[in-house]
Amino acid sequence: MAKLAARGGTPVRTETFPEWPLAGPEEREWVEKVLSGSRWFGGLQGDDPGTMGRLFGERFAEFHGARFGMPVSNGSTAIEVALKALDIKPGDEVIVPAYTFISTATSVFMVGAVPVFADMDPQTYCLDPMDLERCLTPHTKAVLPVHLGGQMADMPAICDVAEKKGLRILEDAAQAIDSVLEGKKSGTWGDLGTFSFQSNKTMTAGEGGLILTNDPDIAEKVVALRAFGRFQDKPGVRSSDLTCTQVSSNYRLSELQAAVLMAQLERFPDHDALRQANAERLNQGVEQIPGLKHIGLNRPHSKPNNKHGYYYYFLRYDTEQYGNINPDQFCEALQAEGIPFVPGDRKPLYRHPVFEVESLSDHLCPLALERYQKALDLLGSGCPVTEEACGCTILLRHQVLLGQEKDMDDILEALWKVHKNIDELR
Ligand SMILES: *Cc1c(COP(=O)(O)O)cnc(C)c1O
Repeated sequence: MAKLAARGGTPVRTETFPEWPLAGPEEREWVEKVLSGSRWFGGLQGDDPGTMGRLFGERFAEFHGARFGMPVSNGSTAIEVALKALDIKPGDEVIVPAYTFISTATSVFMVGAVPVFADMDPQTYCLDPMDLERCLTPHTKAVLPVHLGGQMADMPAICDVAEKKGLRILEDAAQAIDSVLEGKKSGTWGDLGTFSFQSNKTMTAGEGGLILTNDPDIAEKVVALRAFGRFQDKPGVRSSDLTCTQVSSNYRLSELQAAVLMAQLERFPDHDALRQANAERLNQGVEQIPGLKHIGLNRPHSKPNNKHGYYYYFLRYDTEQYGNINPDQFCEALQAEGIPFVPGDRKPLYRHPVFEVESLSDHLCPLALERYQKALDLLGSGCPVTEEACGCTILLRHQVLLGQEKDMDDILEALWKVHKNIDELR
């Protein structure tokens, strides 16, 4: 008689897990404030005094301990605008991790620059500072670490290399709202930090983004680049007084989205507390299960000055310990038990066709194309640690961590069940 639901047995559970996104009366109240007023537009530069854009930018910056918070249209354009604000030019090289969302690297192409792929640290799944040296050339201008799944990259080590080599730092914190390392939040370690409020993210308006910085000069550039590259000579000017000095486009966030985000930001601490408690319960259980390892435990999160933002709950799966049943089959067996584990990305970014030189010949200038070709030559057969992680990673999405304790116990029960009955999958 089969025990596993995948083989006809009874599943551990049939109830669903929490859905995402979640809205309450608060979102409606904030949106109503915009709709009932005459101001549906955030102003020429996107955040005039008294607008939702301004209010949300200030509140988010305060929440993260940064001086300036500037909303933009989404997390990808946030990276693009941030790169332009750092004066990254066509042909400049920017070091990016090979394991991240696609737009971390394609945003580099969008400003005509060259992404150079670095390997990951297997303990954090984030950019490995030890691999930076290999990626450096005289054309390297910036490093773009990603706090993947909410786990902070090793920022002290990355900042160290950047300082020695004169590189700018842009943190892609799209998955790491309110993640903390050594008491300092994501997006405040580098020159700039970018965030996304796309609907999967832990704070959302369906779409949306934001840039944090402590540097007033960078903030001024971001504000100008966000709205057609028009700089303000003096405060309170009319449109006709704005001087356009740089090619840009319209990257403003709408007032309606900013209103939704006000409610989302206010609710965030409650959700965060729930995710932290549930993740801790899972961690304790997962530690007992052979052949599984939670990513992000290398820096104990019980320490008050570190916090994992838990966008993803990553597990590393040891195929050998599971009799060579592959991680996708393992996921399917868990799904049959009613637990929504999904496979992590199965290939590094550079294996997507868009990163082949042929795909880029019409997009990059000859200088950038030549440098990109050299970077690919240097990359050779790829980043070994990333390649390995691609073959053994499964994950839960953050909304699963908004469940009850009983839900976490069901997850652990299903993991044990599949572990004990893995031979049925053969
Ligand atoms: C979501 C995401 C982005 C892009 O954000 P959008 O708002 O969807 O454009 C960039 N980087 C990472 C790591 C992301 O997870």
